[in-house]
Amino acid sequence: MEGFRPGDKLVLATHNKGKYRENAALLAPYSLEVLSAGDLGLPEPEETGATFEENAVLKARAACEATGLPAIADDSGLAVPALNGQPGIYTARWAGTDRNFFVAMKRVHDELGDNPDRRGFFCCNLSVAWPDGRTVSFEGRVEGTLVWPIRGERGFGFDPMFQPRGYGVTFGEMEPEKKEAMSHRAVAFAQLAGALLRKP
Ligand code: IMP
Repeated sequence: MEGFRPGDKLVLATHNKGKYRENAALLAPYSLEVLSAGDLGLPEPEETGATFEENAVLKARAACEATGLPAIADDSGLAVPALNGQPGIYTARWAGTDRNFFVAMKRVHDELGDNPDRRGFFCCNLSVAWPDGRTVSFEGRVEGTLVWPIRGERGFGFDPMFQPRGYGVTFGEMEPEKKEAMSHRAVAFAQLAGALLRKP
C-alpha cells in the first residue's frame, strides 16, 4: 500500500483539540506537514455512521474532499459493557452542546448505580482518505476500570474517569507521553504507522 513520505502534506480531520494534540504528537517523528481541519475552518460533517469506522471514514472523506489533500480522521469513544456498550459512538454527544465532560462522566456514574461491573474500554478508529478515492481504517482499544470520584486534570474528555488495566492512575493523572504510548489511539496509530508511514 502506498503511504506517506517525509514532507507530504495531510489534514487531521478533527475539531477536537485533545485529539489533535495527541494525533499530531504521534505523527511528529515522520516529518509530515500536518494541517488541522479546525484551523482550516472546515465544516464538521454530521456523524451519521453506525460504527466508529463509519464515522471516521465519513470525517476523513469530507476533509479530503474539501481540501484535495489526504486526510486522517479519528473517531473514538468510551464503551461500557454494563450499559450495553454505551455511550460508544455517542460519547461526545453525552457531553451536550457545551461539551461538558463532567456532566457526561457523572451520567455514566449515575447510570451504573450500584452495578459492581465497572469495566470500560476506549476505542479509537483512525481512517485515512486519499483524493483518488482510497480509504483505509485501523482500530485500537484499551481496557480499564471506571472510577468515581474522577481523578486528574490532564488529557481530555473521559480521561479522569478511566484507569487503564494494570495501572494505579487514571488517564487524567498519567504523564501525556505515557498515555500517548499505550492508549487506544496509540494502538490504532501503531498499525497505521506500520502500514503507511516511514521515518526520514
Ligand atoms: P468523536 O470521535 O468526535 O465522536 O468524539 C469522541 C469522544 O470520545 C471525545 O469527545 C471524548 O470525549 C471521548 N474520547 C475519545 N478519546 C478519548 C481519550 O483519549 N480520552 C478521553 N476521552 C476520549
